[in-house]
Amino acid sequence: MGPPGSGKGTQARLLAESRGWVHLSTGDLFRDHIRRDTELGKLAEKHMSKGAYVPDGVTVGMVRERIDRLPAGTGVVFDGFPRTVPQATALDELLRERGRSVGHVVLIEVPPEVIVERLSRRAGSGEVRSDDSAEVVRHRLEVYDEQTRPVLDHYERAGRLLRIDGVGTVEEVSRRLSEAVS
Ligand code: ADP
Repeated sequence: MGPPGSGKGTQARLLAESRGWVHLSTGDLFRDHIRRDTELGKLAEKHMSKGAYVPDGVTVGMVRERIDRLPAGTGVVFDGFPRTVPQATALDELLRERGRSVGHVVLIEVPPEVIVERLSRRAGSGEVRSDDSAEVVRHRLEVYDEQTRPVLDHYERAGRLLRIDGVGTVEEVSRRLSEAVS
């Protein structure tokens, strides 16, 4: 877990690679649907371009479909999911039905001024994402505060939330993450 610009995509990918787990990023899955111009992609685009979340039912359905194509027992690093309390509840249920559960929840903590700096750098670099314009980024951060902070409280109350410092090089943060989930 972590706000936009926290580096969670990079860290989730590295963790999955090093452990032989599957990296499941809902943002990447949506972007893939958009590229392939599927019905789901068209719907997701409408929300993503505004910096809003894709509706829970659509998002959970896509995650369920992805999970069900994995061999039983596969380790999964969820990235950008769950992002709302209903998604967190749905994930708990989905895993329970399959005899699994959430192992660790890690929050990558980064101060707001670092987030803003990183996202404006990404917007000006070759990594083109249509939702990285200043206006849309501001909205994404607001939506994160409103809808995703309560998910942190959900896991915090369950005593499952681990926090790591997200400031530093990719390697430093990746070492902290690896230790947190060992
Ligand atoms: P970031 O964390 O930098 O915002 P992501 O790639 O994780 O990037 O997400 C990009 C966009 O995709 C989000 O702003 C949102 O519109 C959509 N999205 C991704 N995951 C979810 C989710 N779990 N629920 C709803 N919308 C999502």
